[in-house]
Amino acid sequence: MKRSTVDILASYIDALHPIIYINHFDFRIIDEAIACVGKDVTCVEFNNALGLLDFKTKSPMKECSLEQFLKLTMDDGFENETFLILKDVHEELKNPKVIALLKRIAENNLYKDNYSSAVFIQSEITVIPRELENYITVFDIPLPTTNEILDIINDFTADMKISVEDETVDDIALSFKGLNEFQIRQILNLAYQDGGCIDRDDKLLILKEKEQFIRKSGMLEIINFTETVDDIGGLENLKEWLYRKAKIFANLDKAIKFGVDIPKGIMIIGMPGCGKSLTAKATASLFQIPLVRLDVGRLLGKYVGESEENMRRALQLSEAISPCVLWVDEIEKAFAGIGGEGGGNDVTTRLFGQFLTWMQEKENTVFIVATANDISRMPPEFLRKGRFDELFFVDLPNGEERRKILDIHLKKRNKWNKCIDSIALIDETEGFNGADLEAVVKETIEKAFIEGEVHITTENLLNSVKDTKSISSTLKDKIEAIKSTISKIDIKPASKKN
Ligand code: ATP
Repeated sequence: MKRSTVDILASYIDALHPIIYINHFDFRIIDEAIACVGKDVTCVEFNNALGLLDFKTKSPMKECSLEQFLKLTMDDGFENETFLILKDVHEELKNPKVIALLKRIAENNLYKDNYSSAVFIQSEITVIPRELENYITVFDIPLPTTNEILDIINDFTADMKISVEDETVDDIALSFKGLNEFQIRQILNLAYQDGGCIDRDDKLLILKEKEQFIRKSGMLEIINFTETVDDIGGLENLKEWLYRKAKIFANLDKAIKFGVDIPKGIMIIGMPGCGKSLTAKATASLFQIPLVRLDVGRLLGKYVGESEENMRRALQLSEAISPCVLWVDEIEKAFAGIGGEGGGNDVTTRLFGQFLTWMQEKENTVFIVATANDISRMPPEFLRKGRFDELFFVDLPNGEERRKILDIHLKKRNKWNKCIDSIALIDETEGFNGADLEAVVKETIEKAFIEGEVHITTENLLNSVKDTKSISSTLKDKIEAIKSTISKIDIKPASKKN
């Protein structure tokens, strides 16, 4: 049993946390930790199916309900120091009598000097009744550190009598970050059965298995994409910045050992349809890591504390799949209503705080790409340096960028030819965004097909430009508002000057 788990549990007991909720699937590991902490303590266990059990031997001693169990054992703390260990009782935590009994135990523990009884609830599902919120502490078993992962791999290779180079072990250990001991052993077994050895290629297997965990949870969405940096026209400053960070991700282990700070992420703010989502995808492709999307709306739950618990699990999951890009699209909408009045807003404010703290403290390899249009109502602390490595502003494309974007979309559809004078299109497309330009290309190609033409001409494109209402005409006010907000903050332009 890892020392840190035992130490943290012991410190909770010392600090009189009366009810400790442990969210974990492997009860054996938790029992070991409780046994370590409670060497001289009377441990009594309740199992939802079997009633009262002997904690050491697990043999059933008395069939009873949780309510009966608590009535039977709640005064034990007056005689001996007692641990009450309750397993899989989350459904019972909706019963008012059970809540009242747990509250009584917690209050005795806090206010009666001659009483000592701590309650441990073990379950994979967290249900925290409002009445017990102040008495319950949620405890997460810490995930293995890099050194602990190295020990797990080395133990495994020794058991299997296979030899693996130190550099490979270091490399693979990083890919295992975010998984628990049980999951790491499971994947090592799979890799060994697959090829009879452990090598660098197993990183792909680790990634696939991690994706499985994410899919099962339903908390995050894995995005499949084909876009690369070459699909982005312009945004040269942003691309240069990403190329530099890609060098770190390509050699993560070496970079960390060298003392390089792990990149935290970027915030991309700007005009609609100018390549923000495209950049999120291109980042994952450039860093050669998976792209997962955090949809805050999906995390909102009906019960008290449910949304926060979902956020905690989603962030933990993103760590499990790391290194990865965690994309929070339209972040200003995700956290809309922060600081406002009312129940829904309270939850959003708490979720936002949770996200900020996680970002501030994170030392993992989750690279955040947050994208936003209108940040006028975003709390300023979010934009403060130190949260993100950099803030970029994506403006409407300049002339040269418009030319590049048109070329990219023509080439993508195999309709680019050297007779097209894209320079002639620059003046006519002033105020168009990337999505408008893509629409011009699509429209032109469709027309050409219908009219039975083989090649696209500059004239065809100019005609489509005339028929297209650009974003600058349809969303004039919105664009002005974005420009005015941006002028007040310290932010880098994503594009180079024309
Ligand atoms: P929104 O704020 O509306 O979500 P966005 O900035 O995320 O917009 P994208 O989804 O990245 O915009 O772009 C929309 C479409 O426009 C993309 O499918 C892409 O093909 C095209 N596009 C936008 N900007 C560029 C660009 N710089 N280079 C190439 N294509 C672009």
